[in-house]
Amino acid sequence: MMAMDTIVKLIFIIAFSVVLLTCSYQRSEKDPYLAARQLMVKEDIQRRGIDDQRVLQAMLKVERHLFVPDSYRPMAYADRPLPIGEGQTISQPYIVALMTYHLHLTPEDRVLEIGTGSGYQAAVLAELTKEVYSLEIIEQLAGTAQERLRALGYKNVWVRCGDGFYGWPEHAPYDAIMVTCATPIIPERLVEQLGEGGRMILPLGDKPYHQALTLVTKRQGKIERQPLTDVVFVPMTGELGKGKK
Ligand code: SAH
Repeated sequence: MMAMDTIVKLIFIIAFSVVLLTCSYQRSEKDPYLAARQLMVKEDIQRRGIDDQRVLQAMLKVERHLFVPDSYRPMAYADRPLPIGEGQTISQPYIVALMTYHLHLTPEDRVLEIGTGSGYQAAVLAELTKEVYSLEIIEQLAGTAQERLRALGYKNVWVRCGDGFYGWPEHAPYDAIMVTCATPIIPERLVEQLGEGGRMILPLGDKPYHQALTLVTKRQGKIERQPLTDVVFVPMTGELGKGKK
């Protein structure tokens, strides 16, 4: 015969195990890509030299598979860009991390992104800063990204459909600006909307399949540029495509 307190203990242990098992099952059900994401961060980002813990944590947190079309979900954590519809692409995760890293964001920063696309980069920025303003020229993409970010609970990202060539002057000056479409020149309005000491990162170049990822810093009203690495981005359309500065 088992003592009553042993039976109670046993029941307690079994109940506790069931709760634990259910929780871990639900967790893997909720995020079946967790292991793939952890591997992506370790192998494709950290191993290439990005050691900023805040950036790595943001890349671990944001579920990239929720930003790509269903048919591409199994590839969401691959080391490559993916189509997001309307002829546009979501960048390779390493490039997202690299661009984010070079902006050296603080939790108090206000950031402008040009080219919302899927909203993935905006979500990564929103994990690291206070306010993210993101402009997207294709209405359908802007609408989907806005809904997606709202559904995921982001309250510090504002998406608007518009031409990033003009920036978003109402919220300027920005501590940082990220341009995720290729431009042959640094748009003047974006420089104007960048605050003193602000950082801007953009793929600079007039060739369709080759641009220089460039870091621009504004000091005493003047800009300094530093080319970082070669990249391939979709071109900025809108007014810039018509040859305006
Ligand atoms: N950052 C995005 C990927 C961007 S792809 C993500 O994380 O998914 C580049 C995006 O820039 C495309 O969606 C394209 O429509 C947009 N774009 C191109 N020209 C633009 C312009 N002038 N203003 C705003 N967005 C523009």
